[in-house]
Amino acid sequence: MYYNLKPCPHCGGEAYLERKHRAFINAQTTRVAFVRCTECNARSGRYKLEDYGTRNASTEAERLAVESWNRRV
Ligand SMILES: [Zn+2]
Repeated sequence: MYYNLKPCPHCGGEAYLERKHRAFINAQTTRVAFVRCTECNARSGRYKLEDYGTRNASTEAERLAVESWNRRV
């Protein structure tokens, strides 16, 4: 799936979507999607894949991560 990512609001760098990234949240290992700047490491909010059900869960979390990134100015 292709996402249209805006450049980083802080440095104008290229943005990158992290999919199924393993993270340690609230004492549990979970998988999250978020957008990260390849230049300065700024990032969007993290969206837990498990929060969006089993089917299409990663797609939904990825879409929200992209939206939250693109809303920043
Ligand atoms: Zn940046």
